[in-house]
Amino acid sequence: MLTMKDVIREGHPNLYKVSEPVQLPLSEEDKTLLIELLNYVKHSIDENMAENDDFRPSVGIAAPQVNVLKRMFVVHVHDAEGTLYSYMMVNPVITEKSQELIYLPGGEGCLSVDRLTEGLTPRNQSITLEGLRYIEETDTLCPIKLHLTGYVGIVFQHELDHLNGILYTQKLFLELPSAKPAFELSQVENDG
Ligand code: ZN
Repeated sequence: MLTMKDVIREGHPNLYKVSEPVQLPLSEEDKTLLIELLNYVKHSIDENMAENDDFRPSVGIAAPQVNVLKRMFVVHVHDAEGTLYSYMMVNPVITEKSQELIYLPGGEGCLSVDRLTEGLTPRNQSITLEGLRYIEETDTLCPIKLHLTGYVGIVFQHELDHLNGILYTQKLFLELPSAKPAFELSQVENDG
């Protein structure tokens, strides 16, 4: 079981490296890692399990954060309407993005960043994300094209940045005059 002890933190050199594409077909090892990453996020929002520091709350986590430099991440998050976005993504790519920028009011957070940060991180208001989605129940890897906006889109962009060796702390601005706030779920502090 993955816990916060497995999460590497700001300053670790591997958080700043570009991860390698995942080799296909997906290995058993990679499948297991995806499932463990998703379980981490689910545990972290489970009241019974999140009482100690082993599971800091999150809505996503990327493989490089547990020191595996492969292009995989998971997201498990609800949008403002309550729709669940629960995805294990392999080799994701942003294929389209809006010019319009948004930011999470109050700033983003990250399991790999232990300090409080000040500032806002610009993200695209909408993105099209393409890649492969692993589905545990059927043990299949399916091509997928997602149109993501607002808060959920921010979460996916944050996780994708990890695959390119970028932390949100490298994109902090005290003001973003050309961007609009994404109000949905702005009370969420840790987003992976
Ligand atoms: Zn993060």
